[in-house]
Amino acid sequence: MAFDCIVIGSGNAGCCAAFSAAESGCDKVLVVDVCPQQWAGGNGYFTAGAFRTVHEGLHDLLPIANNVSAEQVGSIDMDRYTREDFLRDIMRLGDGKPDPVLAGAVVDASRDTISWLATNVGLPFMFSYHRQAYAVGGRQKFWGGMVLCTEDGGKGLIAAHQRALAKAKVDMWFNCPAVEITMENGAVSGVVVEKDGARMHLRSAAVVLAAGGFEANSVLRAKHLGAGWERAIVSDGFVLAAALGARQTGDWAGCHSTCWDADAPKDGGQRDLTNQFTKSGYPLGIMVNSSGKRFVDEGEDFRNYTYAKFGRAILMQPEGQAFQIFDAKVIASLRQEEYGDGIVKKICADRIEDLAEKLAEIGLKSKQEFVETVNQFNEAVGRYQAEKPAAWNPAIKDGMSTADLPLSKTNWALTIDKAPFMAVKVACGVTFTFGGLAIDPETAGVISEKTSKVIPGLFCTGEMVGGLFHGNYPGAAGRAAAALMHQV
Ligand SMILES: Cc1cc2nc3c(=O)[nH]c(=O)nc-3n(C[C@H](O)[C@H](O)[C@H](O)COP(=O)(O)OP(=O)(O)OC[C@H]3O[C@@H](n4cnc5c(N)ncnc54)[C@H](O)[C@@H]3O)c2cc1C
Repeated sequence: MAFDCIVIGSGNAGCCAAFSAAESGCDKVLVVDVCPQQWAGGNGYFTAGAFRTVHEGLHDLLPIANNVSAEQVGSIDMDRYTREDFLRDIMRLGDGKPDPVLAGAVVDASRDTISWLATNVGLPFMFSYHRQAYAVGGRQKFWGGMVLCTEDGGKGLIAAHQRALAKAKVDMWFNCPAVEITMENGAVSGVVVEKDGARMHLRSAAVVLAAGGFEANSVLRAKHLGAGWERAIVSDGFVLAAALGARQTGDWAGCHSTCWDADAPKDGGQRDLTNQFTKSGYPLGIMVNSSGKRFVDEGEDFRNYTYAKFGRAILMQPEGQAFQIFDAKVIASLRQEEYGDGIVKKICADRIEDLAEKLAEIGLKSKQEFVETVNQFNEAVGRYQAEKPAAWNPAIKDGMSTADLPLSKTNWALTIDKAPFMAVKVACGVTFTFGGLAIDPETAGVISEKTSKVIPGLFCTGEMVGGLFHGNYPGAAGRAAAALMHQV
C-alpha cells in the first residue's frame, strides 16, 4: 500500500502536518496513531487550547475571535505582542540557550499560522478571558502576551482538526503504532506499522514524525530527567528516529512541568477534566511545602512565564507535594475551571491555625512552621504597604511585594488574613518535554547525526522538535512548534 505522505501521531502537530500535506496537493495522506480512536489528538486534547502568537493588538485578532460582542470591544485592553517580544520571551526564559534560528522561524510563522488555522483548518478561536485577563476597573486587561485559545479548549481543538482532516479526505488509522521507518537508497521509503495484529509495510517518500515528547515513557523520563521524576504525574517516536541516526538536540534534562492537582490520576489524563487539573492560581496566594515553608517567589512573573518551572520546584520539595493557600480576598478571582466546586478538593477554615490542623491530616508536617510562615508573610506585606502604598492589580506586575523576606513575593503580595481561608494540595504534572530532534528550520527535515545533513524524506514537527525551549518556556508556545510544518 502506498501513500504520498504518512504522519506518525494524531496530536495537534500531526493534524497540522497532515492537513497541510493534503492542501499542498498530496492525494493520499495517512495519519497513524498507536492510541484508540477515542483517544485521538494526543496531548492536545488535554490542554486549554491556548495559542501564543505575534499580534498587533485587539484590532488584529478581533476578526478571528468568536467571543467578543460589540459592547465588549470598547472595554478590552490588549497590548500588541511583537516578534521581538515573543523571541525575547523564548530566549530569556530559556536562559539564552534555545536555538535562535529555530525560535525565530517559529515566531515568524506564528501569526500567519493562526490565520491559516482559523480560515483553512477551521479552528474556532476565542479570547482567553478567564485565563489571560483580569477585570480591573471595569476593563478586561490581558496580560502575559498570550490571548488566544480554542473554543472548548483542547477538546474543541482536536474536534476541529478531525473535522478538517475528514473533509480533506485524510485517512486516519488508530490502534496502529509505527514500529519502523524504512530507508531505500539513502532516503525514506515508508513506515512499518502494526495493524490488526499484523505488521504491514506502507510505502511513502515522505514521513512526518509528530509522535510527541517522551513524558509518557517512564524509562526515558528516568534516564533524561533524572532522580525524582518517577513521582511526576504524566512516545516512543524517538526510538524510530534513533534507528535512522537522527540527531538529538536541546534540553533533554528539562521539561514543562506545572502545578497539578495532587489527587489527579497518576498515569495518564482524565478525558472529562483534561486541563482542569492544572492549579495555576498561585500568583494570588502563596505556596508552602509540607514543612510549612514557602519555596518559590509566587509573584516572580505572570503565571504563564513561571508555571512551566514551578512544577519542578514542587517535585523537589519533601514528598514532591505542596499546598496553595488563599484567603477570602482572592478566592473569587481564581479560575472556576481549576478551583470550582467538584473540580478540586478544597480545604477550608476560618482560622489559619484551623487550616493548619486540617492540612496536617493530608501531609503538612509542621503546623507551627506553617502558621509562622503566614504570619511573617503578612507582616512583610504590612511593612511594604506602610512604606510604599500601592494598589493591588493582578493584570499588571504591580510591584506589591514582601521585599524584606529572604524569599520575597515580588508582585501581588496581599495579606492572607481574611476568612475563610482555602488550601489545595498540588503535585508536579509533566506536560511536555523539551529535548528532541534536530531539524532544518526552513524545511523541518530531520538532521542526521552522521552527515549533519537532512535525512531525505524524514520530517519532524511539534513536541518532538528539540532546541526550541530550555528549562522554562512562555506559556502556550508549545503549539507554535507545529507551525513549522505548515510553513514548509
Ligand atoms: C495538560 C496540558 C496542557 C497544555 N497546555 C498547552 C497549551 O495550552 N498551549 C500549548 O501550546 N501547549 C500546551 N501543552 C503542551 C502541548 O499539549 C504539546 O506541546 C502538544 O500537544 C504536542 O503536540 P504533538 O502533536 O507534538 O504531540 P502529542 O500531542 O503528544 O501527540 C503525539 C501523538 O503521537 C502518538 N504516537 C506516539 N508514538 C507513536 C507511534 N510509535 N506510532 C503512532 N503514534 C504514536 C501518540 O499516541 C499521540 O497521540 C499542554 C500540555 C498538557 C499535557
